[in-house]
Amino acid sequence: MYDPIELSKKTEKIVVKDGKKKYHRFRFTRFYGCSATADSVGCNLRCIFCWSDRAVRLPNKMGRFYSPDEVVDKLIELANNNKCKIIRISGAEPTIGRSHLLALLDLVDAYDKIFILETNGILLGADRKYVEELSGYNRLHVRVSLKGCSEEEFRFLTRAKNGFSYQIRSLEYLSDYGVSFHPSVVSTRGEEEKIIETLENIGIRRNVIEWEKLKLYPPVKERLRRLNLLDKLADVWED
Ligand code: SF4
Repeated sequence: MYDPIELSKKTEKIVVKDGKKKYHRFRFTRFYGCSATADSVGCNLRCIFCWSDRAVRLPNKMGRFYSPDEVVDKLIELANNNKCKIIRISGAEPTIGRSHLLALLDLVDAYDKIFILETNGILLGADRKYVEELSGYNRLHVRVSLKGCSEEEFRFLTRAKNGFSYQIRSLEYLSDYGVSFHPSVVSTRGEEEKIIETLENIGIRRNVIEWEKLKLYPPVKERLRRLNLLDKLADVWED
């Protein structure tokens, strides 16, 4: 088991250099209807169902360094070419490399786009100030992906020794600072009512929760087979 905060620090040393950060792909997607997407490299969790695979597990071998200007230029070009209003950073964990992300958001403000930050929320829940800094960006929407409905399920799904409370705290901070956000939830044990109650207790209504669908990509299937968990998680995959 590992500490996600320690893993964040270790990962940042690999994926952030001189204000630049590693990305491994820029693409047009149908998520949110139509979005230009940058896939970042390096994460502070190791979810057993993660599809990002090498970008998470081998950050030193994946991608190349891009400055905030280069990332924004690529995203805006992709978005304009495909007539998308939405740009986003996904894959791995975009909040690693705080000054890179904030510099990138400064640049995004000049464009008529919505920027979706897809995060596991660990670093936001660990540092209220980070969320305060994000609250200055009007074009920002944050999607926090909760890995499970409880601390116990989080530990099972991520193999981390802690972190679920950071995830919940990130939502509290985002709400406190008036940042546009919604939670998404990976639920594998039928404990949906548990997380709904937790979220309602901090003022988040059930109708804004996104229930995540998992895809059994070949590397994920192989990983679960190695962990002997394929049968245990047999019912959670999208066709
Ligand atoms: S937080 Fe996301 S990118 Fe990181 S390991 Fe989990 S699923 Fe993969």
